[in-house]
Amino acid sequence: MSKEFDVVVIGSGPGGQIAAIRAAQLGFNTACIDEWKNEKGGPAPGGTCTNVGCIPSKALLQSSEHYEQAGHHFADHGIGVAGLSVDIAKMLARKASVVKQNNDGILYLYRKNKITFFHGRGSFVKADDKGYEIAVAGDKPDTLIAKHVIVATGSNPRALPGAAFDEETILSNDGALRIPAVPKTLGVIGSGVIGLELGSVWRRLGAEVTILEALPAFLGSVDEQVAKEAHKALTKQGLKIHLGVKISEVKAGKGAVAVAYADAAGKEQKLEVDRLIVSIGRVPNTIGLNAEAVGLKLDERGFIAVDGDCKTNLPNVWAIGDVVRGPMLAHKAEEEGSAVAERIAGQHPHVDFNTVPSVIYTSPEIASVGQTEQQLKASGRAYKAGTFPFMANGRARALGDTTGLAKVIADAKTDEVLGVHIVGPGASELIAEAVMAMEFKASSEDIGRICHAHPTLSEATKEAALAVEKRALNF
Ligand SMILES: Cc1cc2nc3c(=O)[nH]c(=O)nc-3n(C[C@H](O)[C@H](O)[C@H](O)COP(=O)(O)OP(=O)(O)OC[C@H]3O[C@@H](n4cnc5c(N)ncnc54)[C@H](O)[C@@H]3O)c2cc1C
Repeated sequence: MSKEFDVVVIGSGPGGQIAAIRAAQLGFNTACIDEWKNEKGGPAPGGTCTNVGCIPSKALLQSSEHYEQAGHHFADHGIGVAGLSVDIAKMLARKASVVKQNNDGILYLYRKNKITFFHGRGSFVKADDKGYEIAVAGDKPDTLIAKHVIVATGSNPRALPGAAFDEETILSNDGALRIPAVPKTLGVIGSGVIGLELGSVWRRLGAEVTILEALPAFLGSVDEQVAKEAHKALTKQGLKIHLGVKISEVKAGKGAVAVAYADAAGKEQKLEVDRLIVSIGRVPNTIGLNAEAVGLKLDERGFIAVDGDCKTNLPNVWAIGDVVRGPMLAHKAEEEGSAVAERIAGQHPHVDFNTVPSVIYTSPEIASVGQTEQQLKASGRAYKAGTFPFMANGRARALGDTTGLAKVIADAKTDEVLGVHIVGPGASELIAEAVMAMEFKASSEDIGRICHAHPTLSEATKEAALAVEKRALNF
Protein backbone atom coordinates (compact mmCIF):
# COMPACT_ATOMS: atom_id res chain seq x y z
CA MET A 1 0.00 0.00 0.00
CA SER A 2 1.30 3.45 -0.81
CA LYS A 3 2.10 5.92 1.95
CA GLU A 4 0.46 9.33 1.78
CA PHE A 5 2.15 12.61 2.70
CA ASP A 6 1.31 16.31 2.51
CA VAL A 7 4.85 17.10 1.36
CA VAL A 8 7.48 14.83 -0.18
CA VAL A 9 10.95 16.31 -0.64
CA ILE A 10 13.25 14.60 -3.15
CA GLY A 11 16.86 15.22 -2.15
CA SER A 12 18.32 15.92 1.25
CA GLY A 13 21.06 18.44 0.55
CA PRO A 14 20.91 21.83 2.29
CA GLY A 15 17.87 22.79 0.20
CA GLY A 16 15.82 19.62 0.71
CA GLN A 17 16.73 19.21 4.33
CA ILE A 18 15.66 22.73 5.31
CA ALA A 19 12.50 22.46 3.18
CA ALA A 20 11.54 19.22 4.96
CA ILE A 21 12.22 20.58 8.45
CA ARG A 22 10.32 23.83 7.80
CA ALA A 23 7.38 21.92 6.27
CA ALA A 24 7.23 19.64 9.32
CA GLN A 25 7.44 22.65 11.67
CA LEU A 26 4.46 24.13 9.82
CA GLY A 27 2.43 21.02 10.59
CA PHE A 28 2.68 19.09 7.32
CA ASN A 29 3.05 15.33 7.28
CA THR A 30 6.45 15.29 5.55
CA ALA A 31 8.75 12.73 3.95
CA CYS A 32 12.23 13.18 2.52
CA ILE A 33 13.91 10.82 0.04
CA ASP A 34 17.67 10.80 -0.50
CA GLU A 35 19.88 8.30 -2.26
CA TRP A 36 23.36 9.29 -1.06
CA LYS A 37 25.23 6.31 0.44
CA ASN A 38 28.03 6.31 2.99
CA GLU A 39 30.96 3.90 2.72
CA LYS A 40 28.90 1.14 4.31
CA GLY A 41 25.95 1.66 1.98
CA GLY A 42 23.85 3.37 4.66
CA PRO A 43 22.13 6.75 4.32
CA ALA A 44 24.29 9.87 4.20
CA PRO A 45 21.86 12.80 3.99
CA GLY A 46 23.28 16.27 3.46
CA GLY A 47 23.88 16.13 -0.28
CA THR A 48 26.91 17.51 -2.06
CA CYS A 49 27.34 20.12 0.66
CA THR A 50 27.82 17.67 3.51
CA ASN A 51 29.41 14.74 1.69
CA VAL A 52 31.69 16.17 -1.01
CA GLY A 53 31.32 19.94 -0.84
CA CYS A 54 31.15 22.71 1.75
CA ILE A 55 31.81 20.67 4.88
CA PRO A 56 34.66 18.33 3.88
CA SER A 57 36.39 21.11 1.92
CA LYS A 58 36.31 23.37 4.97
CA ALA A 59 37.59 20.53 7.17
CA LEU A 60 40.61 20.06 4.87
CA LEU A 61 41.10 23.81 4.47
CA GLN A 62 41.32 24.08 8.26
CA SER A 63 43.71 21.13 8.64
CA SER A 64 45.97 22.31 5.84
CA GLU A 65 45.95 25.88 7.18
CA HIS A 66 47.13 24.60 10.58
CA TYR A 67 49.98 22.84 8.77
CA GLU A 68 50.84 25.97 6.79
CA GLN A 69 50.78 28.10 9.94
CA ALA A 70 52.95 25.66 11.89
CA GLY A 71 55.42 25.35 9.01
CA HIS A 72 55.67 28.96 7.92
CA HIS A 73 54.17 31.39 10.41
CA PHE A 74 54.49 30.10 13.98
CA ALA A 75 58.16 31.14 13.94
CA ASP A 76 57.06 34.81 13.62
CA HIS A 77 55.34 34.38 16.99
CA GLY A 78 58.47 32.93 18.56
CA ILE A 79 57.17 29.38 18.41
CA GLY A 80 59.54 26.76 17.07
CA VAL A 81 58.20 23.55 15.63
CA ALA A 82 60.66 20.71 15.31
CA GLY A 83 59.91 17.59 13.30
CA LEU A 84 56.70 18.91 11.74
CA SER A 85 54.96 16.20 9.75
CA VAL A 86 51.61 15.54 8.19
CA ASP A 87 49.55 12.34 8.36
CA ILE A 88 47.18 12.50 5.37
CA ALA A 89 45.30 9.34 6.35
CA LYS A 90 44.51 10.87 9.75
CA MET A 91 43.56 14.19 8.19
CA LEU A 92 41.15 12.44 5.81
CA ALA A 93 39.74 10.34 8.66
CA ARG A 94 39.06 13.52 10.65
CA LYS A 95 37.32 15.02 7.62
CA ALA A 96 35.22 11.84 7.28
CA SER A 97 34.22 12.03 10.92
CA VAL A 98 33.17 15.69 10.54
CA VAL A 99 31.03 14.62 7.56
CA LYS A 100 29.48 11.77 9.56
CA GLN A 101 28.61 14.08 12.45
CA ASN A 102 26.69 16.21 9.95
CA ASN A 103 24.97 13.17 8.34
CA ASP A 104 23.92 11.95 11.80
CA GLY A 105 22.79 15.43 12.82
CA ILE A 106 20.38 15.56 9.87
CA LEU A 107 18.90 12.15 10.65
CA TYR A 108 18.47 13.29 14.28
CA LEU A 109 16.64 16.43 13.11
CA TYR A 110 14.35 14.30 10.92
CA ARG A 111 13.44 12.10 13.88
CA LYS A 112 12.95 15.14 16.12
CA ASN A 113 10.64 16.80 13.59
CA LYS A 114 8.80 13.55 12.78
CA ILE A 115 9.91 13.55 9.14
CA THR A 116 9.81 10.12 7.50
CA PHE A 117 13.12 9.46 5.76
CA PHE A 118 13.41 7.10 2.78
CA HIS A 119 16.85 5.98 1.61
CA GLY A 120 16.83 5.47 -2.14
CA ARG A 121 16.16 7.16 -5.44
CA GLY A 122 12.85 8.98 -5.80
CA SER A 123 11.21 9.18 -9.21
CA PHE A 124 7.90 10.45 -10.50
CA VAL A 125 5.47 7.72 -11.60
CA LYS A 126 2.26 9.61 -12.37
CA ALA A 127 -0.09 12.35 -11.24
CA ASP A 128 -3.77 11.85 -10.53
CA ASP A 129 -6.45 13.44 -8.38
CA LYS A 130 -4.88 12.00 -5.21
CA GLY A 131 -1.60 13.77 -5.93
CA TYR A 132 1.79 12.71 -7.25
CA GLU A 133 2.89 9.08 -7.09
CA ILE A 134 6.59 8.73 -6.34
CA ALA A 135 8.51 5.48 -6.40
CA VAL A 136 11.42 4.97 -4.04
CA ALA A 137 14.02 2.57 -5.43
CA GLY A 138 16.52 1.33 -2.88
CA ASP A 139 17.07 -1.43 -0.36
CA LYS A 140 13.44 -1.11 0.69
CA PRO A 141 11.39 -0.07 -2.37
CA ASP A 142 8.30 1.97 -1.58
CA THR A 143 5.55 4.01 -3.19
CA LEU A 144 4.54 7.41 -1.86
CA ILE A 145 1.63 9.72 -2.68
CA ALA A 146 2.31 13.42 -2.21
CA LYS A 147 0.03 16.46 -2.28
CA HIS A 148 3.10 18.67 -2.71
CA VAL A 149 6.50 17.70 -4.09
CA ILE A 150 9.69 19.71 -3.57
CA VAL A 151 12.48 18.68 -5.94
CA ALA A 152 15.91 19.39 -4.46
CA THR A 153 18.12 17.02 -6.41
CA GLY A 154 21.15 19.31 -6.62
CA SER A 155 23.96 19.23 -9.16
CA ASN A 156 26.86 17.15 -10.44
CA PRO A 157 30.38 18.20 -11.48
CA ARG A 158 30.80 19.10 -15.15
CA ALA A 159 33.39 16.95 -16.93
CA LEU A 160 35.70 18.17 -19.68
CA PRO A 161 34.74 16.62 -23.00
CA GLY A 162 37.05 13.65 -23.63
CA ALA A 163 38.35 13.59 -20.05
CA ALA A 164 35.87 11.66 -17.91
CA PHE A 165 36.42 11.63 -14.16
CA ASP A 166 38.17 8.46 -13.03
CA GLU A 167 38.71 9.91 -9.51
CA GLU A 168 42.26 8.50 -9.59
CA THR A 169 44.09 10.87 -11.90
CA ILE A 170 41.26 13.05 -13.29
CA LEU A 171 39.39 14.23 -10.23
CA SER A 172 36.10 15.93 -9.56
CA ASN A 173 35.53 17.58 -6.18
CA ASP A 174 34.80 14.08 -4.85
CA GLY A 175 38.21 12.58 -5.70
CA ALA A 176 40.00 15.86 -4.90
CA LEU A 177 38.78 15.60 -1.31
CA ARG A 178 40.27 12.14 -0.79
CA ILE A 179 43.67 12.06 -2.49
CA PRO A 180 45.47 9.47 -0.33
CA ALA A 181 48.94 11.07 -0.47
CA VAL A 182 50.12 14.58 -1.34
CA PRO A 183 50.81 14.59 -5.10
CA LYS A 184 54.13 16.10 -6.13
CA THR A 185 52.39 18.02 -8.90
CA LEU A 186 48.72 18.87 -9.19
CA GLY A 187 46.91 20.56 -12.06
CA VAL A 188 43.61 22.34 -11.63
CA ILE A 189 41.41 23.32 -14.56
CA GLY A 190 39.15 26.19 -13.54
CA SER A 191 40.00 28.95 -11.06
CA GLY A 192 36.54 29.30 -9.57
CA VAL A 193 35.66 28.77 -5.92
CA ILE A 194 36.18 25.00 -5.92
CA GLY A 195 39.44 25.06 -7.91
CA LEU A 196 40.97 27.74 -5.68
CA GLU A 197 39.87 26.13 -2.42
CA LEU A 198 40.99 22.60 -3.30
CA GLY A 199 44.13 23.85 -5.04
CA SER A 200 44.98 25.75 -1.83
CA VAL A 201 44.48 22.66 0.34
CA TRP A 202 46.98 20.55 -1.61
CA ARG A 203 49.46 23.41 -2.13
CA ARG A 204 49.58 23.99 1.64
CA LEU A 205 50.24 20.29 2.12
CA GLY A 206 53.19 20.40 -0.28
CA ALA A 207 51.96 19.90 -3.86
CA GLU A 208 53.18 22.10 -6.68
CA VAL A 209 49.87 23.43 -7.98
CA THR A 210 49.23 24.88 -11.45
CA ILE A 211 45.81 26.35 -12.22
CA LEU A 212 44.63 26.77 -15.81
CA GLU A 213 41.73 29.16 -16.36
CA ALA A 214 39.97 29.83 -19.66
CA LEU A 215 38.77 33.33 -18.79
CA PRO A 216 41.17 36.23 -19.26
CA ALA A 217 40.31 37.81 -15.90
CA PHE A 218 40.91 36.27 -12.48
CA LEU A 219 37.62 35.83 -10.55
CA GLY A 220 35.71 37.84 -13.12
CA SER A 221 32.50 38.01 -11.09
CA VAL A 222 34.27 39.37 -7.99
CA ASP A 223 34.91 43.10 -7.49
CA GLU A 224 38.02 43.85 -9.58
CA GLN A 225 40.00 45.53 -6.81
CA VAL A 226 39.33 42.60 -4.49
CA ALA A 227 40.11 40.02 -7.19
CA LYS A 228 43.45 41.76 -7.84
CA GLU A 229 44.39 41.62 -4.16
CA ALA A 230 43.39 37.95 -4.00
CA HIS A 231 45.40 37.13 -7.12
CA LYS A 232 48.46 38.84 -5.65
CA ALA A 233 48.16 36.97 -2.34
CA LEU A 234 47.47 33.53 -3.83
CA THR A 235 50.27 33.85 -6.38
CA LYS A 236 52.68 34.89 -3.61
CA GLN A 237 51.77 31.70 -1.75
CA GLY A 238 52.93 29.66 -4.73
CA LEU A 239 49.78 28.89 -6.72
CA LYS A 240 50.73 29.17 -10.39
CA ILE A 241 47.69 30.70 -12.08
CA HIS A 242 47.53 30.88 -15.88
CA LEU A 243 44.63 32.89 -17.30
CA GLY A 244 43.15 32.95 -20.80
CA VAL A 245 44.19 29.40 -21.69
CA LYS A 246 42.50 27.08 -24.14
CA ILE A 247 42.66 23.39 -23.30
CA SER A 248 43.15 21.21 -26.37
CA GLU A 249 43.71 17.77 -24.86
CA VAL A 250 43.76 15.93 -21.56
CA LYS A 251 45.37 12.49 -21.57
CA ALA A 252 45.42 10.31 -18.48
CA GLY A 253 48.16 7.70 -18.23
CA LYS A 254 49.22 5.50 -15.35
CA GLY A 255 49.68 7.82 -12.38
CA ALA A 256 50.03 10.93 -14.53
CA VAL A 257 48.00 13.32 -16.67
CA ALA A 258 49.17 15.36 -19.63
CA VAL A 259 47.31 18.56 -20.49
CA ALA A 260 47.92 20.27 -23.80
CA TYR A 261 46.77 23.89 -23.99
CA ALA A 262 47.31 27.18 -25.74
CA ASP A 263 48.40 29.96 -23.39
CA ALA A 264 47.00 33.52 -23.44
CA ALA A 265 49.43 34.42 -26.24
CA GLY A 266 48.22 31.43 -28.29
CA LYS A 267 51.45 29.46 -27.75
CA GLU A 268 51.08 25.68 -27.40
CA GLN A 269 52.02 24.46 -23.92
CA LYS A 270 52.09 21.14 -22.12
CA LEU A 271 51.50 20.46 -18.44
CA GLU A 272 52.35 17.07 -16.95
CA VAL A 273 50.98 16.45 -13.48
CA ASP A 274 50.45 13.54 -11.10
CA ARG A 275 46.79 14.40 -10.72
CA LEU A 276 44.35 16.82 -12.27
CA ILE A 277 41.30 18.43 -10.64
CA VAL A 278 38.67 19.52 -13.15
CA SER A 279 36.50 22.23 -11.60
CA ILE A 280 34.80 23.93 -14.53
CA GLY A 281 31.34 24.26 -13.04
CA ARG A 282 28.40 22.05 -12.15
CA VAL A 283 25.36 20.81 -14.02
CA PRO A 284 21.83 20.40 -12.64
CA ASN A 285 20.98 16.85 -11.59
CA THR A 286 17.69 15.38 -12.76
CA ILE A 287 19.07 11.89 -13.40
CA GLY A 288 16.53 9.21 -12.53
CA LEU A 289 13.85 11.70 -11.50
CA ASN A 290 11.66 10.62 -14.40
CA ALA A 291 10.45 14.20 -14.90
CA GLU A 292 8.85 13.20 -18.24
CA ALA A 293 6.34 10.91 -16.49
CA VAL A 294 4.48 13.94 -15.14
CA GLY A 295 5.55 16.53 -17.73
CA LEU A 296 7.88 18.47 -15.43
CA LYS A 297 9.54 21.12 -17.59
CA LEU A 298 13.30 21.65 -17.79
CA ASP A 299 14.87 24.73 -19.35
CA GLU A 300 17.31 24.65 -22.28
CA ARG A 301 20.29 24.20 -19.90
CA GLY A 302 18.72 21.24 -18.08
CA PHE A 303 17.66 23.13 -14.95
CA ILE A 304 14.11 22.57 -13.71
CA ALA A 305 12.24 25.63 -14.95
CA VAL A 306 10.81 27.69 -12.06
CA ASP A 307 9.43 31.16 -11.50
CA GLY A 308 10.67 33.60 -8.86
CA ASP A 309 8.80 31.63 -6.17
CA CYS A 310 10.32 28.23 -7.16
CA LYS A 311 7.01 27.08 -8.70
CA THR A 312 7.45 24.67 -11.61
CA ASN A 313 5.04 24.28 -14.55
CA LEU A 314 3.09 21.68 -12.51
CA PRO A 315 0.61 22.51 -9.77
CA ASN A 316 2.03 21.78 -6.29
CA VAL A 317 5.45 20.81 -7.63
CA TRP A 318 8.30 23.07 -6.53
CA ALA A 319 12.05 22.98 -7.18
CA ILE A 320 14.90 24.59 -5.24
CA GLY A 321 18.67 24.81 -4.89
CA ASP A 322 21.30 23.84 -7.44
CA VAL A 323 18.75 22.16 -9.72
CA VAL A 324 17.18 25.56 -10.50
CA ARG A 325 18.51 28.93 -11.75
CA GLY A 326 20.54 31.21 -9.51
CA PRO A 327 23.81 30.91 -7.64
CA MET A 328 24.87 27.34 -6.75
CA LEU A 329 25.31 27.98 -3.05
CA ALA A 330 24.17 25.99 -0.03
CA HIS A 331 22.64 28.97 1.77
CA LYS A 332 20.71 29.99 -1.36
CA ALA A 333 19.28 26.44 -1.48
CA GLU A 334 18.38 26.69 2.21
CA GLU A 335 16.63 30.03 1.79
CA GLU A 336 14.59 28.64 -1.10
CA GLY A 337 13.77 25.50 0.89
CA SER A 338 12.41 27.38 3.84
CA ALA A 339 10.53 29.86 1.60
CA VAL A 340 8.83 27.09 -0.41
CA ALA A 341 7.61 25.30 2.72
CA GLU A 342 6.17 28.61 3.92
CA ARG A 343 4.51 29.26 0.54
CA ILE A 344 2.85 25.82 0.72
CA ALA A 345 1.49 26.99 4.10
CA GLY A 346 0.06 30.11 2.43
CA GLN A 347 2.73 32.51 3.66
CA HIS A 348 4.54 35.09 1.52
CA PRO A 349 8.30 34.88 2.16
CA HIS A 350 10.83 36.58 -0.09
CA VAL A 351 14.33 35.51 -1.16
CA ASP A 352 16.46 38.40 -2.37
CA PHE A 353 19.36 37.16 -4.53
CA ASN A 354 21.00 40.57 -4.19
CA THR A 355 21.69 39.92 -0.51
CA VAL A 356 22.93 36.34 -0.90
CA PRO A 357 26.58 36.54 0.15
CA SER A 358 29.31 34.52 -1.52
CA VAL A 359 32.55 33.38 0.03
CA ILE A 360 35.75 31.75 -1.17
CA TYR A 361 37.49 30.10 1.77
CA THR A 362 41.06 30.55 0.57
CA SER A 363 43.56 32.39 2.71
CA PRO A 364 42.92 35.29 2.52
CA GLU A 365 39.18 34.65 2.39
CA ILE A 366 37.18 36.49 -0.25
CA ALA A 367 33.62 37.47 0.64
CA SER A 368 31.10 39.71 -1.01
CA VAL A 369 27.48 40.76 -1.11
CA GLY A 370 25.61 43.04 -3.46
CA GLN A 371 27.00 44.75 -6.52
CA THR A 372 30.59 45.15 -7.63
CA GLU A 373 32.08 48.39 -8.87
CA GLN A 374 32.23 47.02 -12.42
CA GLN A 375 28.52 46.05 -12.30
CA LEU A 376 27.57 49.52 -11.09
CA LYS A 377 29.68 51.18 -13.78
CA ALA A 378 27.99 49.02 -16.42
CA SER A 379 24.52 49.89 -15.11
CA GLY A 380 25.33 53.60 -15.03
CA ARG A 381 24.31 54.00 -11.38
CA ALA A 382 26.24 56.74 -9.58
CA TYR A 383 28.11 55.37 -6.55
CA LYS A 384 30.90 56.18 -4.15
CA ALA A 385 33.30 53.68 -2.63
CA GLY A 386 35.48 53.48 0.45
CA THR A 387 38.25 50.99 1.15
CA PHE A 388 40.31 50.15 4.20
CA PRO A 389 43.41 47.92 4.24
CA PHE A 390 43.83 45.25 6.93
CA MET A 391 47.42 46.51 7.16
CA ALA A 392 45.99 49.42 9.18
CA ASN A 393 43.80 47.23 11.42
CA GLY A 394 45.20 46.55 14.90
CA ARG A 395 43.63 43.12 15.27
CA ALA A 396 44.97 41.99 11.89
CA ARG A 397 48.46 43.11 12.94
CA ALA A 398 48.12 41.21 16.21
CA LEU A 399 46.99 38.12 14.31
CA GLY A 400 49.93 38.46 11.95
CA ASP A 401 47.67 38.50 8.91
CA THR A 402 47.35 41.91 7.31
CA THR A 403 46.59 40.84 3.73
CA GLY A 404 43.73 42.46 1.87
CA LEU A 405 41.11 45.12 2.35
CA ALA A 406 37.46 45.84 3.05
CA LYS A 407 35.45 47.85 0.55
CA VAL A 408 32.04 49.45 0.92
CA ILE A 409 30.14 50.82 -2.07
CA ALA A 410 27.15 53.13 -1.58
CA ASP A 411 24.70 55.03 -3.74
CA ALA A 412 26.13 58.47 -4.59
CA LYS A 413 22.94 60.30 -3.59
CA THR A 414 21.15 58.26 -0.93
CA ASP A 415 24.25 56.61 0.60
CA GLU A 416 22.41 53.26 0.65
CA VAL A 417 24.94 50.40 0.78
CA LEU A 418 24.98 48.68 -2.62
CA GLY A 419 27.81 46.21 -2.13
CA VAL A 420 30.48 45.15 0.33
CA HIS A 421 33.58 43.23 -0.76
CA ILE A 422 36.23 41.90 1.57
CA VAL A 423 39.46 40.05 0.94
CA GLY A 424 41.34 39.28 4.12
CA PRO A 425 41.33 37.39 7.40
CA GLY A 426 37.89 36.39 8.68
CA ALA A 427 36.09 37.75 5.59
CA SER A 428 33.57 34.87 5.70
CA GLU A 429 32.35 36.02 9.12
CA LEU A 430 32.70 39.76 8.50
CA ILE A 431 30.37 39.69 5.51
CA ALA A 432 27.35 38.85 7.71
CA GLU A 433 27.32 42.41 9.06
CA ALA A 434 27.18 43.73 5.50
CA VAL A 435 24.31 41.39 4.58
CA MET A 436 22.38 42.57 7.63
CA ALA A 437 23.07 46.20 6.75
CA MET A 438 21.85 45.70 3.19
CA GLU A 439 18.74 43.80 4.30
CA PHE A 440 17.87 46.78 6.50
CA LYS A 441 18.70 49.21 3.66
CA ALA A 442 21.42 50.78 5.79
CA SER A 443 23.56 53.66 4.56
CA SER A 444 27.34 53.59 4.70
CA GLU A 445 27.02 56.24 7.42
CA ASP A 446 24.94 53.77 9.48
CA ILE A 447 27.76 51.21 9.40
CA GLY A 448 30.29 53.93 10.15
CA ARG A 449 28.34 55.11 13.19
CA ILE A 450 27.78 51.66 14.72
CA CYS A 451 30.12 50.97 17.64
CA HIS A 452 32.40 48.05 16.73
CA ALA A 453 34.43 46.33 19.44
CA HIS A 454 38.14 47.12 19.48
CA PRO A 455 40.35 45.51 18.41
CA THR A 456 38.37 43.50 15.85
CA LEU A 457 38.67 42.79 12.16
CA SER A 458 35.15 44.20 11.81
CA GLU A 459 36.59 47.66 12.42
CA ALA A 460 37.97 47.39 8.87
CA THR A 461 34.41 47.28 7.50
CA LYS A 462 33.44 50.25 9.68
CA GLU A 463 36.48 52.20 8.49
CA ALA A 464 35.73 51.31 4.85
CA ALA A 465 32.19 52.63 5.39
CA LEU A 466 33.59 55.83 6.88
CA ALA A 467 36.01 56.07 3.95
CA VAL A 468 33.02 56.36 1.62
CA GLU A 469 32.73 59.94 2.92
CA LYS A 470 36.52 60.22 3.23
CA ARG A 471 36.44 60.20 7.02
CA ALA A 472 38.14 56.95 7.98
CA LEU A 473 39.43 57.51 11.50
CA ASN A 474 42.47 55.24 11.50
CA PHE A 475 44.01 55.76 8.09
C1 LIG B 1 33.86 21.23 -3.26
C2 LIG B 1 32.64 22.10 -3.05
C3 LIG B 1 32.65 23.05 -2.07
C4 LIG B 1 31.53 23.84 -1.87
N1 LIG B 1 31.58 24.79 -0.90
C5 LIG B 1 30.52 25.57 -0.68
C6 LIG B 1 30.54 26.54 0.35
O1 LIG B 1 31.52 26.69 1.07
N2 LIG B 1 29.43 27.29 0.54
C7 LIG B 1 28.33 27.16 -0.24
O2 LIG B 1 27.34 27.87 -0.03
N3 LIG B 1 28.26 26.23 -1.23
C8 LIG B 1 29.34 25.45 -1.46
N4 LIG B 1 29.27 24.49 -2.43
C9 LIG B 1 28.02 24.36 -3.22
C10 LIG B 1 26.98 23.58 -2.42
O3 LIG B 1 27.49 22.32 -2.06
C11 LIG B 1 25.69 23.42 -3.24
O4 LIG B 1 25.28 24.69 -3.68
C12 LIG B 1 24.60 22.80 -2.38
O5 LIG B 1 24.99 21.53 -1.93
C13 LIG B 1 23.29 22.68 -3.18
O6 LIG B 1 22.33 22.14 -2.35
P1 LIG B 1 21.09 21.32 -2.94
O7 LIG B 1 20.27 20.99 -1.74
O8 LIG B 1 20.47 22.06 -4.03
O9 LIG B 1 21.70 20.00 -3.59
P2 LIG B 1 22.75 18.90 -3.13
O10 LIG B 1 23.53 19.32 -1.96
O11 LIG B 1 23.50 18.52 -4.35
O12 LIG B 1 21.84 17.70 -2.66
C14 LIG B 1 21.04 16.98 -3.53
C15 LIG B 1 20.72 15.64 -2.92
O13 LIG B 1 19.70 15.02 -3.67
C16 LIG B 1 20.01 13.65 -3.82
N5 LIG B 1 19.28 13.17 -5.01
C17 LIG B 1 19.42 13.58 -6.29
N6 LIG B 1 18.50 12.98 -7.09
C18 LIG B 1 17.79 12.17 -6.28
C19 LIG B 1 16.69 11.32 -6.49
N7 LIG B 1 16.13 11.19 -7.69
N8 LIG B 1 16.21 10.62 -5.44
C20 LIG B 1 16.75 10.75 -4.21
N9 LIG B 1 17.78 11.57 -3.95
C21 LIG B 1 18.29 12.28 -4.96
C22 LIG B 1 21.51 13.63 -3.95
O14 LIG B 1 22.01 12.35 -3.63
C23 LIG B 1 21.89 14.67 -2.90
O15 LIG B 1 22.01 14.08 -1.64
C24 LIG B 1 30.37 23.66 -2.65
C25 LIG B 1 30.33 22.67 -3.63
C26 LIG B 1 31.45 21.89 -3.82
C27 LIG B 1 31.40 20.82 -4.87
